[in-house]
Amino acid sequence: MEYITNSPNETKKVAEEIIKDIISGQKKGPIFVGLVGDLGAGKTTFMKGVAEFFEVQETILSPTFVIQKIYEITEENRQKENHEFKRLVHMDLYRLEDEKSLEAIKWEEYKSEEGNILFVEWPNQIWQNALTDMIEIKIEHAGEDRRKIIFN
Ligand code: ADP
Ligand code: MG
Repeated sequence: MEYITNSPNETKKVAEEIIKDIISGQKKGPIFVGLVGDLGAGKTTFMKGVAEFFEVQETILSPTFVIQKIYEITEENRQKENHEFKRLVHMDLYRLEDEKSLEAIKWEEYKSEEGNILFVEWPNQIWQNALTDMIEIKIEHAGEDRRKIIFN
């Protein structure tokens, strides 16, 4: 499926649509989603839409400098949206240097813990065969404020 958006807000709306689609088939997780795209494509903007869907209170910031952030999902949201996710985990691996640092951020654990939905910006920093269970979302520049979002 391909979506064209013309503003950050539209990208957030598409994010909500896609996340609904993903969790309608797997209500519990763990789920691992990779956000692929150049700098400024809109990966973090997309995450903001995801965070709005899960109603996590804290503002989503680009975690480039902290590598990861974990947001607790409330029981209210679980009931309202009919799912069983407990934690939204957001990682940005742009600055990750090697596999050792990947161990340090406990990527494997976050990826496999029940109740987790993990979103990773720059997943290609992870070695190739670890990506087999990744749901990929691609975001491409398509003009000034225009973006193409590809999700299969
Ligand atoms: P990334 O995390 O991929 O590096 P960000 O989401 O941090 O990208 O930044 C995307 C930038 O592009 C923001 O400054 C945002 O305002 C701008 N932008 C312009 N049009 C769009 C669009 N259609 N979708 C998402 N972001 C857009
Ligand atoms: Mg980003």
